[in-house]
Amino acid sequence: MDNLVENLGTENVVIIGSGPAGYTAAIYAARANLQPLLITGFTSGGIPGGQLMTTTFVENFPGFPDGVLGPDLMDLMKSQAVRWGTKLIESDVTSIKCIDKPFEITTLEEKIKSNSVIIATGASANRLGIINEELFWSKGISACAICDGATPQFREADLAVIGGGDSACEEAVYLTKYGSKVHLIVRSNKLRASAAMIDRVNANPKIQIHWNTSVTEAIGSEWLENIKTIDLDSNQEVIKVKGLFYAIGHTPNTGFLNNQLEIDSRGYIKCESGRPETSIEGIFAAGDVADAEWRQGVTAAGSGCMAALAAERWLSEKNLAKIITREQPEPKKSESSTNNVDEDTNEETFDFNSEWQKGSYALRKLYHESAKPILVIFSSPSCGPCHVLKPQLKRVISELNGQVQGIEIDIDKDQEIAKQAGINGTPTVQLFKDKLLKRQWKGVKQRSEFKEAIKSLIK
Ligand code: NDP
Repeated sequence: MDNLVENLGTENVVIIGSGPAGYTAAIYAARANLQPLLITGFTSGGIPGGQLMTTTFVENFPGFPDGVLGPDLMDLMKSQAVRWGTKLIESDVTSIKCIDKPFEITTLEEKIKSNSVIIATGASANRLGIINEELFWSKGISACAICDGATPQFREADLAVIGGGDSACEEAVYLTKYGSKVHLIVRSNKLRASAAMIDRVNANPKIQIHWNTSVTEAIGSEWLENIKTIDLDSNQEVIKVKGLFYAIGHTPNTGFLNNQLEIDSRGYIKCESGRPETSIEGIFAAGDVADAEWRQGVTAAGSGCMAALAAERWLSEKNLAKIITREQPEPKKSESSTNNVDEDTNEETFDFNSEWQKGSYALRKLYHESAKPILVIFSSPSCGPCHVLKPQLKRVISELNGQVQGIEIDIDKDQEIAKQAGINGTPTVQLFKDKLLKRQWKGVKQRSEFKEAIKSLIK
């Protein structure tokens, strides 16, 4: 890391979670010279960056008059936290020992001691449990329209979204870009989304709302073909759709706490209203993990700020704060990844030895001519998990010193290739050697999985 890092032994504050609450807490704690350690989470409880990584334009976060893409907003927050000296660990926390102090946090790789902890683990997307859900998961059923909407199977097809909140409305509108029609299936007789979002749904002729309706079953053979619905009067209907998207709310990620903190009947961490202190001194909560009511990016960020200030106060009251000193009062400017615009490789820019290129031209050339393994990531424009995975893959490739080559394919631009490759969601990663598909991964995975698979192909 460019900015200063000291070995603190026992940490001042460990922040668990990398949504708006976690990164805001990190920015405040870092600027208080506490050098926080933030554990981003990796696969459990959703992807690093939290729920905004699976949304398109956030139009109500102050400071962005024209809206900002959720993944871009999270990249900016992360850069700001790192710029001020936050240390990041990309891993999942599996447990935490809250009884003794300092607290002990266990990740997939290590144990970390810390004098205070801020829990900002957010909430994960719910599933419904309808008949055949597992069978058609990723074969028509998805919990993320923004990630998967651009896949070839959904183009010009009828699609359905379940839910009546902002996510459902946003996803229904988004999917009309790809599908011929979107059925919005709402279990009650009203939408609970914001008025602006409801206006967009009502103004879109491709969306049909089915009120007081629930989905009971998914039907198809290789791919989803129909859904069965039932309304309040027990009328059943079969609707022809190739895609079914869940947007039915979230459950707080508190399982790893093992009931050591007080939580309410729905699993949210209990705090006094408007305060970040939990039932254990020195442990604070911020964001959706402790908020069943407001659940906004900006409220999560605000509560992250409160948690960091409370932790700072608590550490100094107990004489536990180890304040670092900065050689330079002004840290180096951040290198926000949103500034990196990477263009498709063409005939002129193609480089046979390059470690990372983009687009179908590079893929065709390397697929036919390279003797090295080729790692292809199929991404889509606003896919948050792709933002998470791309730097991981680039790191794996650079660690393997040019023995493998990486290519990014935007499935929105290169639809034909995506179809030929059988892509039905992003990110999908395929590993080729000698024109043969050796491995395929869907979603975000640990770096080590890719590395081991590539190494097994390198002689
Ligand atoms: P919400 O909890 O707001 O809405 C969930 C929806 O799913 C509700 O309509 C609910 O129905 C429905 N639902 C829940 N369980 C079931 C079920 N078993 N069967 C059928 N329907 C079900 O979640 P969201 O993810 O939409 O939003 C979460 C938060 O994020 C909100 O605060 C929202 O404002 C915010 N957000 C903001 C966005 C933006 O600004 N761009 C985009 C997306 C979200 P019912 O109403 O009957 O309870």
